[in-house]
Amino acid sequence: MKTTPRPRLTVNLSALQANYQTLCARRPGAETGAVVKANAYGFGAERVVPALIEAGCRTFFTAYTFEAVRLRQSVEAIPDAVNLCVFNGPSAGDLADYDDYNLTPVLNTLAQVSLWQGQKSTCMLQVDTGMNRLGLTSKEVATLATNADAHGGLKVSHILSHFACSSDPGAAKNKRQVEEFKNLTNKLGKLFPKAEKSISASGGIFLPFDIDEKLTRPGVALYGASPQDQPVDALQTVATLEAPVMQIREVSSGESVGYGATFTGREHARVATLGIGYADGYPRHLSNCGKVILGGRKCPVIGAISMDLITVDITDCEDPIAVGAIAECFGPTLPVAEIATLAGTIAYEIFVTLGDRVERRYVT
Ligand SMILES: *Cc1c(COP(=O)(O)O)cnc(C)c1O
Repeated sequence: MKTTPRPRLTVNLSALQANYQTLCARRPGAETGAVVKANAYGFGAERVVPALIEAGCRTFFTAYTFEAVRLRQSVEAIPDAVNLCVFNGPSAGDLADYDDYNLTPVLNTLAQVSLWQGQKSTCMLQVDTGMNRLGLTSKEVATLATNADAHGGLKVSHILSHFACSSDPGAAKNKRQVEEFKNLTNKLGKLFPKAEKSISASGGIFLPFDIDEKLTRPGVALYGASPQDQPVDALQTVATLEAPVMQIREVSSGESVGYGATFTGREHARVATLGIGYADGYPRHLSNCGKVILGGRKCPVIGAISMDLITVDITDCEDPIAVGAIAECFGPTLPVAEIATLAGTIAYEIFVTLGDRVERRYVT
């Protein structure tokens, strides 16, 4: 017996691999890493990581140590040569995991530098060039650089920084950060002559000027969303979110739909109830303003988003819609960016908040 249809995310692993190649091609002089924090942006690291390894990726980033540990434990056949790096770096309590699971930390504070002192394996070092979030400040860089005796033994493979405004190619801050990065890496160059540079996430890879770096760290662009405020045509759609029609009803003029009676039809309407809600990560902010593709039409979401259900107006659909029909909530026809904008957020947040109830299906 078929079970009740539920919301479904289809992940196209070939499109993911094609996006990886596109990002590599934009930066022929640099290695292209992949950011797979938050379970590969909600897409399932167990399937995403092997697909990217197959595409040639050898350096992966998570945010937390336990995320990288989980990758080593759960993803079959990650070759030893594949580098698993942790943006947030180590604490005293998880230092041993770096040895046990062959992980590379990003050190962000002088305390983490001290903690890593004496470790034999490679680390990365993050410097702050204007984000004011993680990484050594210019003052701390100076402290480190003038204390060669204490820190010269660190094996730093890469010096990292991060752009604040790379979603806007015209932002003056981008070039200021590049300058500051040059300045700070020069200061550290004597101490760590072998350290390579890395500053670009997805947005940086699409900035319209040359950046001196040997490793990029894209996340969202791999998953098919534009890192810029404008669409990037070179990227393929990786994710399609769909929801099944569970019931169809006629609503007379003057009747309301859903919680709080926030929608009242002025005319007679046909309304389809779909199996997806805010528990699945469909944003409640799309109440009365979301859109879905159903029967070849862009249908408006009417009424409030419920935990498990949404209601859409299908009055204008040309093809008759039946129970069991599948609506596209975002995907090739309805870009995730459009839905994110309607919800007052960004594609990143839509991706990573998709719930456990959403069935993940992988296609090539
Ligand atoms: C999340 C993250 C990235 C990836 O960012 P995208 O915009 O998704 O490409 C790269 N570097 C750091 C430090 C990050 O935290």
